[in-house]
Formats: sequence, C-alpha cells, structure tokens
Amino acid sequence: MLDDTKTIRPVARIVRGQPTNDGAGVKLTRIIGNQDLPDVDPFLLLDEIRSEEGADYVAGFPDHPHRGFETVTYVLAGRMRHADNSGNSGLLTPGSVQWMTAGRGIVHSEMPEQEDGLMWGFQLWVNLPAKDKMIAPRYQDIAPERVPKAALAGGARVRVLAGSFAGLVGPVEGIVTEPLLLDVKLPAGGEASVPVPAGHAVFAYVFEGEAAVGRPGRLVPRGHAAVLGAGEEVALQGGSAAGGRVLLAAARPLKEPVARYGPFVMSTEAEIRTAIADFRAGRF
Ligand code: FE
Repeated sequence: MLDDTKTIRPVARIVRGQPTNDGAGVKLTRIIGNQDLPDVDPFLLLDEIRSEEGADYVAGFPDHPHRGFETVTYVLAGRMRHADNSGNSGLLTPGSVQWMTAGRGIVHSEMPEQEDGLMWGFQLWVNLPAKDKMIAPRYQDIAPERVPKAALAGGARVRVLAGSFAGLVGPVEGIVTEPLLLDVKLPAGGEASVPVPAGHAVFAYVFEGEAAVGRPGRLVPRGHAAVLGAGEEVALQGGSAAGGRVLLAAARPLKEPVARYGPFVMSTEAEIRTAIADFRAGRF
C-alpha cells in the first residue's frame, strides 16, 4: 500500500515525555515544551494526562489566560468541562476535540468533571503567526461523531481530527498553519502511509503499545515522540503483539521569532509585557 515514488520521512529524533505538573497540581507528561524539545515549530507544547487516580487531576486548570496561539484538547477518556470569561462553555467527552484559537486573549478554566476513574487526553499548543496573534478568540468544539474514521487495508483505523487523509476531511476548519491531526490505531504489523506537504513539520507521539516510524522503521515505544525529517510521506507500522496507537501531527512551520512566557506566546518581549499588563488590567 506504500507509494514507492514518494520519499518517506526519516526519524530525526526520538524523545521521551517527561513527568511534570501544571494547573492546580495536575500530574501530566510533557512531550513538547520542555528542555529536551522546546518546540516543533509551529507546535509549542504537547501534554498527555493519563491517570486513574482522581488526586492526580481533580484540581484541574482553574481560571488562566492565553494569548497569541491556539490550544487543542483531545479527550480519550473522562470528561473535561471548559468555561471562559466570554460566557462560552462546553463539555469534552471521550473522542471529542476542541480547537481553541486564543488570539488576543481569553481567560478560561479546564476542569475534569469526574472525581475518579480514568482521565486521559492531550493538549497541544499551536502557534499563530505574528499577524494573527491578536485576532478574535474562536472555538471549534467537535463532538466524537463528527470525527471521520478511515479503515485502512491491513487493519489500521484512523480518526481524522484536522486536515485531510484517505479522502476524508477532518472537522476542524480554517486554521492558518494548515494542520493535519490524526489518531492512528495500528494492529501489530498494520501499516499507515500518510502524505504530508514537504515543508510541514511532523511529529508522531506513541500513546499505546509501540509503533515503527519511517522506513526502515525505528521502533518508538509508548510515551515517546518521533520528530520527523524532510520527505513527502509518513510511514507508520504497529509494533509488538498489541500494535500501537499514534497521535500524528503536521503543520506549516512559521519560522518567526517566538517570545513565550507561561500562557502567553508572542513575537517580542515587549508584546509579552503588554500581554501581562493587559491581563492584570482585566483587558482580556
Ligand atoms: Fe487553557
């Protein structure tokens, strides 16, 4: 099923997610946005929350601001309630995705709406170009049934969250960095071949089992991300007896200066100071 006329992206790096905590003491694994891997332009952060212990997550993420970028939340298990200072609110259930364009600024809370049981999901931060950092905030809340699913020959199953794959178009629309975001479930030996624009940045995070990335494939275990080099196509194969599951993300890099301070991601230090002053003055 692989198209041999296309160049397969090699693995440039494999990095392991690092345990940390954020919000009001939520334990999580940070894959992008730490010292090992500060960013994969335009991706600024990737966190995975996965715990069956309520104490690890119930404190959640009470009111906090964002400016200058986008946050993407993808829930695998459990429920996350969000509410913001403009009166928007919603409940993210398993399989749903929220693409929030913070733009010039929002203040919101993200709170698990359960006290025990498995809470599992991701948050991905995607930068905005300088010209779009101060646009109006926008939400795309996507219910699970709106996410198209592809069943590939060989048994791989793919949920298309954003971008196009296998003739399907994901429900997230109008994002300036033209992202592709796929949840790829691979049985042992099952393959997926994903075309990606040559100039786009790509990473593959393995969150179940293990998967081989590239060709010849390099085995990436659960909890690790492969950052891919240049090429036209991403080759994935499920490893071991149980196969693997991969969050595959691609987008157009911005190649712009990045000034970041906590929940503010701007282009200059002066813009960061303005963001802090605006937030303190209640101008979000
Ligand atoms: Fe947030």
